[in-house]
Amino acid sequence: MLANDLAELDRAHLIHPVMSWRDHEARGPHVLAEGRGAYLTDASGRTLLDGFSGLWCVNVGYGQDSVVKAATEQMMRLPYATGYFGYAAEPSIRLAARLAELAPGDLDHVFFTLGGSDAIDSVVRFIRFYMHAKGTPERRHVISLARGYHGSSSTGAGITALPAFHRDSDLPLPWQHHIANPYPYRNPVGPEPDAIIAASLAEFHAKVEEIGADKVAAFFCEPITGSGGIIVPPKGWLPAMREACRALGILFVADEVITGFGRTGPLFACEDEGIVPDMMTVAKGLTSGYVPMGAVLMSDAVYRTIRDGSPEGATIGHGLTYSAHPVSAAVGLAVMDLYLDGGGLLAQGQRVGAYLGRRLQAFADHPLVGEVRGRGMLQGLELVTDKAAKTKPDKALGIAGKLAAQGLEHRLIFRAFADDMIGFAPPLCCTEADIDVLCERLGATLDAVLADPAVRAAV
Ligand code: PMP
Repeated sequence: MLANDLAELDRAHLIHPVMSWRDHEARGPHVLAEGRGAYLTDASGRTLLDGFSGLWCVNVGYGQDSVVKAATEQMMRLPYATGYFGYAAEPSIRLAARLAELAPGDLDHVFFTLGGSDAIDSVVRFIRFYMHAKGTPERRHVISLARGYHGSSSTGAGITALPAFHRDSDLPLPWQHHIANPYPYRNPVGPEPDAIIAASLAEFHAKVEEIGADKVAAFFCEPITGSGGIIVPPKGWLPAMREACRALGILFVADEVITGFGRTGPLFACEDEGIVPDMMTVAKGLTSGYVPMGAVLMSDAVYRTIRDGSPEGATIGHGLTYSAHPVSAAVGLAVMDLYLDGGGLLAQGQRVGAYLGRRLQAFADHPLVGEVRGRGMLQGLELVTDKAAKTKPDKALGIAGKLAAQGLEHRLIFRAFADDMIGFAPPLCCTEADIDVLCERLGATLDAVLADPAVRAAV
């Protein structure tokens, strides 16, 4: 089928996520045809370096034969097994056990979902069961970060605080609350880690006080804020928040949907600071995007409380037809092998991620770049029009969008966030040579946008 015909069918029938439908119809889709390693070929035959791993999910890269083989074999053998009524399939049991072994601390129990949003929804449901089992059902409020992203379901979009997800949706719900991100580049208390941590703790305690200490159930955060602009909290913030939650009997939920599976270096970003959350959500890198799957990892203590505190014989009424889907689980097992077996991709991602961070720092001198930040294979550039004054680019300038469009001209995919941020999350299979290509194309992209007369006039 011709690319033009496909574009027309897309405009007529395919609703795309998180877009202005009008803008999308005006622009049309960019149809991708195939992928190999870190490179995609589009329908017009151009090869693009995917600096964003699809949607920060294809961690092992495209075209991994072992993953395709695992999915095919499982589909031939047993394409589906329900987990209802006590049935199970071997790969689902093995993947749950593997995750329990790999996850920090006593996160030993796994509920599989189809992605991140329903993992967050599942956590909300498990929190309710937990608080009822403990005899504290009035603990039903949750607190999260103002620039956090926790999915797009009707409850997750309220735990998320990004404005686009609240518009016209009666969100946040009355039990959903937010506090500011620990954001070193722009923080009223300055960039000093201790001051940022102290301010964050004070705001958290004030929020708990305002809600009522006996009414707060959980705190949700990403170890590094992703969609809200790749905001890296100072070292020490995560353990401080974890401890504050423990002291107040508030569950600590780490949303590792982006940061999990080697994205920031270790298998889970919580490991970087030695913390063990009460629950952890994962998705994306769990199957590297080859098939949909997410999961909630639950501590032994939370699991036992729900198990033992529920009325005798009562059903824990939460389930999904495709929970623990055997094909997804078989893919997940093959993906774990790629991360971990024989000098696998986890180690490669650690090495190449350090190289990416170093290479990107060179762009800190560019007139459009206020800060380069990130960890491992998760990096971003915050854009400014005046470096000394940290002036945010005028919305009307559309700098981030211009950069993404110019990036495509230079055969590089990355993500534009809001109006002042671009992000990189390359596959862990990238080599240093791929990162050299990425940086060369990024340099040409930044210079091309700087040469735009409207941008030139603004800096
Ligand atoms: N949590 C985080 C941190 C995410 O980044 C995302 C998706 N980008 C989600 C939850 C929701 O995941 P999904 O899109 O798979 O529903």
